[in-house]
Amino acid sequence: MSPFAAVAGVLLAVTAAPYIAFLGLYAWLRPSGSPAAKSEAEPPVSIVLPTYNESRIVEAKLDDLLALDYPMEEVELVVVDSSTDETREIIRDYFSDLEVPDLTLIEEDERRGLAPALNEAYEAAGREMVVKTDCDSKLPPDVLREAAANLADPEVDAVTGRNVEVLGGSGVESGYRGVQSHIQQLESHLDSTLIFHGPFSAFENDALLPIDPNSLADDTELALKIRRQGGRVIFDPAVRYKEASHSEFVKRRKQKDRRAMGLIRLLVQHRDALGRYGKYGRAVLPFNWWFMIASPWLLALTLIVGTAGVILQFGAVGLALPVGVGLFTYLGQKDLLGPVQALYSLFDTQVSLLRGGIDLLRGKGDGTWEVDAELREIYE
Ligand code: GDP
Ligand code: MN
Repeated sequence: MSPFAAVAGVLLAVTAAPYIAFLGLYAWLRPSGSPAAKSEAEPPVSIVLPTYNESRIVEAKLDDLLALDYPMEEVELVVVDSSTDETREIIRDYFSDLEVPDLTLIEEDERRGLAPALNEAYEAAGREMVVKTDCDSKLPPDVLREAAANLADPEVDAVTGRNVEVLGGSGVESGYRGVQSHIQQLESHLDSTLIFHGPFSAFENDALLPIDPNSLADDTELALKIRRQGGRVIFDPAVRYKEASHSEFVKRRKQKDRRAMGLIRLLVQHRDALGRYGKYGRAVLPFNWWFMIASPWLLALTLIVGTAGVILQFGAVGLALPVGVGLFTYLGQKDLLGPVQALYSLFDTQVSLLRGGIDLLRGKGDGTWEVDAELREIYE
């Protein structure tokens, strides 16, 4: 065996070791559902909805919110709109003959980015439970009750949920969400989870903190800061939402690379949390450092060294390795990999984390982005 192949083998084993440990922990703890002591509750709710040029879909979103199974007298909607289209006119018209829910419409003259807009909306939100939801998502009627039941546990200050149906039918995304749901349940049972999801997250109002105006991971940042101030922040698969996604490799990159960049930057900004805050800083954060920051580079290196190794040993035949990876990618992004589709989803995520990391090193990521128009069609 060439030394290259040996090095590649060692690299792969090192990359995999923490995952095997994590799998072992999962098998041992068998986490399932929410770790909270859930109990029925009906607190007053502020729903925060940020909008940027959502005139095509905002009405459908409002229909969806009004269809929630919750007393609308208890609900306040806080929209922060930074649009240049007629989104805010549509919202005003929609509410013109409605008694409830209460509407607070914050109108920004200029788009500063999602994080500063959200800071304003959170400031304006006055009710006990604050829900954040993206315009491009759908919520089932029970979602506020499921969230409130989690927050009724005095230890729990925030809860996020699961993407139960990937609109548009992307197998790559649903494969990833399936794996992610298991990871987030384990993290939540250990202590708290890291990632909070834009389509639906709920927070105790009195736990809210301002987020970095440049943040590209606003929901996760809020949760991380709440954990740092002592609250528990968890994932409950019974809290459900639906969001659209692509499978095609190139189409996925924009949104997913940006989200990856936001998460990596957040971890690095909060590196001093490692090793602190119980199992959150001793297990959850290190796992996420490994997954988001270390493994993408290790995998890339493994691939380069491995290719060099097989070429040295077998000559041109060794090109079968990179060609194989290419074929894996080609079939994966067409949702054609059947039983190994979820493995491709993880590979796709690692690609984004590598690209997001590189973009960060190159100083990219200013806090605004182009909204994905194609994905919006699904919600019309
Ligand atoms: P993605 O899901 O991560 O790709 O992010 P989206 O483009 O879907 O944006 C998430 C939510 O934030 C949507 O409801 C957008 O309309 C809204 N949004 C995005 N950028 C801004 C902004 O600069 N200001 C405000 N107020 N809302 C924004
Ligand atoms: Mn979105």
